[in-house]
Amino acid sequence: MKFFNTLTRKDEEFKPLKDNVVRMYTCGPTIYNFAHIGNFRTYVFEDLLRRYLKYKGYKIKQVMNLTDVDDKTIKNSIKEGKKLKSFTDTYKKAFFEDVDILNIERAEVYPAATEHVLEMIEIIKVLIKKGYAYQGEDKSWYYNIAKFNDYGKLSHMKIDELKSGARVKQDEYEKENVADFALWKAWDENDGDVFWDDDELGKGRPGWHIECSAMSMKHLSDAFKTGKFIPGKFETFDIHTGGVDNMFPHHEDEIAQSEAATGKKFVNIWMHSEHLLVDGKKMSKSLGNFYTLRDLFAKGFKPMALRYVLISTHYRQQLNFTFDGLNAATNALQRIEDFVLKLKETKENEGEDINSTMDKLIETFEMSLDNDLNIAPAMGAIFEFIKKINGLIAEKNLAKKDADKILKLLIRFNSVLGFIDFSEKKLDNEIEELVREREAARKSKNWAKSDMIRDVLKEKGIVLEDTAKGVRWKYAK
Ligand code: AMP
Ligand code: ZN
Repeated sequence: MKFFNTLTRKDEEFKPLKDNVVRMYTCGPTIYNFAHIGNFRTYVFEDLLRRYLKYKGYKIKQVMNLTDVDDKTIKNSIKEGKKLKSFTDTYKKAFFEDVDILNIERAEVYPAATEHVLEMIEIIKVLIKKGYAYQGEDKSWYYNIAKFNDYGKLSHMKIDELKSGARVKQDEYEKENVADFALWKAWDENDGDVFWDDDELGKGRPGWHIECSAMSMKHLSDAFKTGKFIPGKFETFDIHTGGVDNMFPHHEDEIAQSEAATGKKFVNIWMHSEHLLVDGKKMSKSLGNFYTLRDLFAKGFKPMALRYVLISTHYRQQLNFTFDGLNAATNALQRIEDFVLKLKETKENEGEDINSTMDKLIETFEMSLDNDLNIAPAMGAIFEFIKKINGLIAEKNLAKKDADKILKLLIRFNSVLGFIDFSEKKLDNEIEELVREREAARKSKNWAKSDMIRDVLKEKGIVLEDTAKGVRWKYAK
């Protein structure tokens, strides 16, 4: 299994560094607003990664932080006249609802930044002691990037391009403004009642970047096991992910802080997913060109169709979001679920030998995903397989025992894909909805529509019967 490592810009063979447990950190949401579907492209990519590692037999410890204090959360909570915690709690709750709706597996730990400020302070103190941090005239503490020889190694910036002495206090900035960044921001009136007091650092709050250094080291290594920060106890962890916009400055700064503090390599493999675009531009809250899950479901789209769209383009390719794409995903999903239904209804005793066809499918599925999660060929092979088996079903040439074998295989694949719903109830609900729609069409004498729905049902293997109690449906024998 190979993954593309942003750090080396190469595909690298993957092996956990310790035991059989993959220790993985994923930058989580800043909970100041509803997450948009661009954010969810990144979280769905991370879910695919996690699920495929499990499929391959690894255990996972995934940590996804919740950024509940930073420039954006403070600014917006004040704007709404709310306490920071009650403000972020609303979006935290919404985030977990969305995670569940998209069938994203929960990470093992969701640490909140506000609960790790002491750990951040301890790391900053080590950086001060080692000469990597200094206090500016504004009383904030900054990281001196000129001191860290490897600065720029992730985003591949040349150190001589860096302007020494320039400082940036805000959490987010562009590459052109590369500068010493804030570790601890001295309190000012814009922070309202959000601050922590420390004898050495003064009254203030942490910068965004130190949050992830502290939460990853705390939950993925023994560095904080005794309750105190022991840099020597840190051990490099396996994978750190995020969207490409996190690469600079966020991840570059995480590396600088963590490696300077511990003297050890921070992360083995860095993986970054490309953006979801709308009309060629990054979907983002600041551009206002975004959809939330709520927006799409209100338009009648199904959560699993969105999951399908987000997962089925390779994570390192940009993905342009369109409603045509979402409709195509809805249809593709329907094809798979119709296929599942037919497999469940198969009753033949005898049929063609399908072992080698199944083996070929498994091989393509695994070879593709082993290759840096290249999902497109895996999906292509699944649809080709469905076409072939549908042919056998039509000829009554698929044996029941083989239909069951295929169902088991699809369930196994779905432990990775996560968008197929195998429950009878779901299928039944859909059929009942169609039956109701057909009844309504008949009542309004829309015969064309009612015939069309009857044909759709027929294709699914459903027959309708008029009874005294109304229309009943059943599977054709
Ligand atoms: P934020 O809440 O802004 O910190 O973003 C949370 C995650 O979503 C980060 O990993 C970002 O890189 C990612 N992200 C933000 N916008 C997009 C987008 N348009 N497409 C894909 N990922 C995104
Ligand atoms: Zn982060």
